[in-house]
Amino acid sequence: MAIKFAGAHHVTAIAGDPQQNVDFYAGVLGLRLVKKTVNFDDPGSYHLYYGDAGGNPGTIMTFFSWPGAPRGRSGAGQIGATSFAVPEDSLGYWTQRLVEHGVRFGTPTRRFDETVLAFEDPDGLGIEIVARPGLNGASSSWAGSTVPEEHAIRKISGVTLLEVAPDRTEELLTSFLGFEKVGEEDGRVRYATAGGENAESFADVVGVPDAARGQTAVGTTHHVAWRAPDDETEESWRGEAEARGLDVTPVLDRQYFHSIYFREPGGVLFEIATDPPGFAVDEDPNHLGENLKLPPWLERHRDKIAADLPPIRLPQEKAL
Ligand code: ZN
Repeated sequence: MAIKFAGAHHVTAIAGDPQQNVDFYAGVLGLRLVKKTVNFDDPGSYHLYYGDAGGNPGTIMTFFSWPGAPRGRSGAGQIGATSFAVPEDSLGYWTQRLVEHGVRFGTPTRRFDETVLAFEDPDGLGIEIVARPGLNGASSSWAGSTVPEEHAIRKISGVTLLEVAPDRTEELLTSFLGFEKVGEEDGRVRYATAGGENAESFADVVGVPDAARGQTAVGTTHHVAWRAPDDETEESWRGEAEARGLDVTPVLDRQYFHSIYFREPGGVLFEIATDPPGFAVDEDPNHLGENLKLPPWLERHRDKIAADLPPIRLPQEKAL
């Protein structure tokens, strides 16, 4: 039985300097820093989560921060770009905003029925603002955002997978992961999760038969996570992944969700993450992201961990 994802849960990438990362995602893009914690597998470095006001699944972009580490290389077996959806009428606002913040972007292009502004974050990570028709409804953005509510980023629209052999990836997406092919244009094949009515997320597959393999480091994406509604569903999907011969991890406790990981045939790391418990599990929803949060097993090292992390400030704090 094919999985039916409700959409993307989050995308995780690797940043260099954490303050520069905060300035870009909370400052320029206007997302809320919803969790300031550490990489559970490497507690000496930050794991920063950005999203809407409540840190809802589908709006989350996260970063491992590796200051001073080398830049990676975009290439095959990687996510080439992460797209954020904004209302169609907000295209002019975003064009102007990027200019004002000195973010260079190419000529806006039409892709399927959307207009796309493509640019890079300060570490060279591929980001897109996608102006989507029909997205003019209510925003769940944060009232303290640097971007007015009507223009706020609504969600992660999807990711672009760069593949040497698209067929194998497409087979996994459709026959096991429940994606539906919804379009093909200029060498890009679009697959959608369940959802509809703008609730779905896209995985665009772009064939890059001659490209070198990407190198995961600063300025590249680490993985994309898709949404599981609860632990039971995730367990059953894990069993199906195993039965299919995928090298899938055990369920890992990520404090804000529970996760399994496996690589799709082209090499992109996929995660399946549960919606619960969410970011309010260890912090007042009105004060998300304000204090360093650690999982219980790292609390006894708090003093050392906190002392070793570089201080970061939100754009709103800087303005005071
Ligand atoms: Zn993840």
